[in-house]
Amino acid sequence: MTTKYKEDNLQKKRQKYQYNYTHIPPVAMVNKLSEEEEFSSPWRLMVAKVGFEILVNTIIVNRGDRGKSGAADDVKVFLIETVKETLAECNGFSRLKILWQGAKFMPKLLLGRLSINVDELDDLIKDIISSVSGDFLQAFAANVQQKLKLDSPKGRGDDLKDFQSLFKTIDLPAIAYTYEMDEVFASLQVAGPNPVMIERLTQPEPNFPVTDSHYQAVMGASDSLAAAYGEGRLYLANYGILNGAINGAFPEEQKYLYAPFALFAVPQEGDRRLRPVAIQCGQNPDEFPILTPNSNPYAWLCAKTMVQIADANFHEAVTHLARTHLFIGPFAIATHRQLRDSHPVSLLLRPHFQGMLAINNAAQEKLIAPGGGVNKILASTIDASRVFAVLGVQTYGFNAAMLPQQLQQRGVDDTDSLPIYPYRDDGILIWQAIHDWVNDYLTLYYADDVAVQQDTSLQAWAQELSDYHGGRVIDFGEAEGRLQTLTYLIDAITLIIFTASAQHAAVNFPQKDIMSYAPAMPTAGYAELQDLGEHTTKEDYLSLLPPLNQAQEQLKLLHLLGSAHFTQLGQYEDNHFLDSKVQVPLECFQNRLNEITDTIHERNCNRPPYEYLLPKNIPQSINI
Ligand code: MN
Repeated sequence: MTTKYKEDNLQKKRQKYQYNYTHIPPVAMVNKLSEEEEFSSPWRLMVAKVGFEILVNTIIVNRGDRGKSGAADDVKVFLIETVKETLAECNGFSRLKILWQGAKFMPKLLLGRLSINVDELDDLIKDIISSVSGDFLQAFAANVQQKLKLDSPKGRGDDLKDFQSLFKTIDLPAIAYTYEMDEVFASLQVAGPNPVMIERLTQPEPNFPVTDSHYQAVMGASDSLAAAYGEGRLYLANYGILNGAINGAFPEEQKYLYAPFALFAVPQEGDRRLRPVAIQCGQNPDEFPILTPNSNPYAWLCAKTMVQIADANFHEAVTHLARTHLFIGPFAIATHRQLRDSHPVSLLLRPHFQGMLAINNAAQEKLIAPGGGVNKILASTIDASRVFAVLGVQTYGFNAAMLPQQLQQRGVDDTDSLPIYPYRDDGILIWQAIHDWVNDYLTLYYADDVAVQQDTSLQAWAQELSDYHGGRVIDFGEAEGRLQTLTYLIDAITLIIFTASAQHAAVNFPQKDIMSYAPAMPTAGYAELQDLGEHTTKEDYLSLLPPLNQAQEQLKLLHLLGSAHFTQLGQYEDNHFLDSKVQVPLECFQNRLNEITDTIHERNCNRPPYEYLLPKNIPQSINI
């Protein structure tokens, strides 16, 4: 999206970018998406390709597997035929529009060729997406549905194979083979979709009375709770914020959410990966037993799954939606309203906002609206999920959100007591690289603190961000929402860029690899199972997992959200920075990112591979 405005008129920009506090009350969002903020054609093409692959996979699963190797090609040919028919139905309006926009492939299609080579599919999709409106896509989807009479998979899984067979042309994620292992369950806390949950436990949690005998049965008789406290090796994931959420029942079955505690420990020596010690599936110890890896295996697997369900709900509402998408939204609005396009801070930030207002707007209009995808697959009611998101924003003060402070606050910054934490270790590298880039860039334009204090448009920007009638950003700025020092400005801009790029990548892309396979991380539970214990069976476990149609909805949505990598951190458009002084610092940043790539590859030889913060996997902005 080359958004080079012809005019640089703040008055006009303020008309285009207005705040709204009622889409997701009381969060500040853009009122109405202006034309410049619409998704770009290359973005639409990329998302459409992923959507097409999901459609092919879904059709093959839902029409019943005919076991033929050519099934995918058959479906593609069928889809192409349906495209032709839909185009024919969409009468003059669409044809004119298509021809007018000069799509290369369309005229041939409209002449009604008898057959289309499957190899031409890419071109076909490209042309359709870049030239045809949403009306076409809707008509197309309706036609596919009507012609095929597709049946969603019915009932519950009798076996994990039923969940695996939802993946036909889309590869089954590797997590499907490993998620039941305790090491993998623990590794998700430090390298999974929600790697921000664990906190160092410094004193016993009264509502989660784990004893030495629980502990030693897992960690060995030579270790003890006292030693682990003393050496800072205990980490707690507490999902208490989810306690009392109203369970949802949309679209048809009763769903359940849980508010568990999960205790993890780092062994004193040997393999020092985090290990799960105990889980209590609710906040009240009188109602919920403490389970350990030594409990009945299905009771333990159910307990771990309930933690995953809680983690998935916290992840989507709080970590992902609230603390990346919604957190960054106001910065884009205030930047357009208060800084001229030529302002150095605006120039630096704008590429990191590309597509974000569009995706946030789409989220509030569709995805998180009543009846939308989130309502379908998350555990609680849509109102409750939205409340979690709002709480997620309101409890995330800007100044405490800086990565080094976050890690320190949770007590996970000590690499001796918690040696294996890929999100932390790679995150800090990226944070420092962005920090140095922002420092080098801003010092080209601000000589000292006084220069920051005297930049009136920058001060107005900061003021508007904290203002109740502006961005409503919690705890932004130094004294009274002002910017006093260059050091603070550098930290603040670093946090904005880091959150819009790396933090979002870390929490967005595991949606595909981990969360699209429902048993590994169901987005809702489907059984209450309050009394886990010796009597718990495999059937209990299977009853906890989503019905197969819901598992398929989870696959479709999370595969889509986790597959769209658009743009790359540090790769600004040619001539974006017209000031030649920027070239050297920018090259420096890009070289640094290349070094980080090497470092992460080396690290991955000695730890469970973690690739979400490889620079090539980090988009510039939140756009999916
Ligand atoms: Mn996202």
